[in-house]
Amino acid sequence: MVLKVAIQKSGRLNDDSLKLLKECGIDIANGVNKLKTEASNFPIEVYFLRDDDIPQYVEDGVADIGFVGENVVYEKNKKVQVVEKLGFGKCRLSIAVSRNEKYEDVSYLEGKRIATTYPVIVQKFMEERGVNADIHEISGSVEIAPGIGLAEAICDLVSSGSTLFMNGLREVETILHSQAVLIKSIGLADEKQRLLDKLLFRIQAVKKSKNNKYVLLNAPNEKLTEIIGLLPGMKSPTVLPLAETGWSSVHSVLNENDFWDIIEKLKEAGAQGILVVPIEKMII
Ligand code: ATP
Ligand code: ZN
Repeated sequence: MVLKVAIQKSGRLNDDSLKLLKECGIDIANGVNKLKTEASNFPIEVYFLRDDDIPQYVEDGVADIGFVGENVVYEKNKKVQVVEKLGFGKCRLSIAVSRNEKYEDVSYLEGKRIATTYPVIVQKFMEERGVNADIHEISGSVEIAPGIGLAEAICDLVSSGSTLFMNGLREVETILHSQAVLIKSIGLADEKQRLLDKLLFRIQAVKKSKNNKYVLLNAPNEKLTEIIGLLPGMKSPTVLPLAETGWSSVHSVLNENDFWDIIEKLKEAGAQGILVVPIEKMII
């Protein structure tokens, strides 16, 4: 029994999907120009597909699970289950209009043409807002549509916004924030579900490690209580005596979100020689 995993063949999600499997300790033979490959040390088979096709393959059970953008999951609207956010492929699906247009709110779009590769999501958004727009589905280069007179607005994926800027467009509404997710077939066989649980356990360990840093610092003993009070840690920090009397070494794990805040407070409290080290895996 193997777990069949669909990932994007080439494009923005390919590298990070393969990297994540690798960080989960799964060795995959180089899959360039291949449709399918196997892992040597975990019972999975990897299928390389166009991202747009992945939800359908997973719904049909041709693949058991897939790595794909939430934007594609919502657009394709297939019967699949989102199991885990993967933390890469972050972008947003936004509406943009020509930079010189006076846009105040969605009512601007009433009766206008919107070019997009995401007609289902855009239609739903317009219905929710009670706006009647004319949605033109096109398959690529959406950003040039206003310039060539095809549409007054577009709806497309944005990350930095530089593509919009270069095409004289301005982002006016964000419909969706998206990232890569792991989807699975509904009604996965028990044995496959067990393999998926094993894979998920590893993915979660990798994700947690990315959000956390291992911190080592030196503290004068009379400041230890105050410094330890600043550290969350997994249980409590490790405290070891230094060779120099009156000093200790404190080890702990800090979350990325409040990292700089805590580092500043640690310095103020008298911590010295602070070292910050990346964590490879984190199992709690
Ligand atoms: P395919 O040939 O597989 O159909 P594609 O051209 O549809 O590829 P890519 O441009 O490689 O797709 O994007 C794949 C996914 O990467 C998107 O669906 C989205 O989830 C994510 N993504 C992240 N950032 C961006 C971005 N700035 N622009 C487009 N997609 C992005
Ligand atoms: Zn695609």
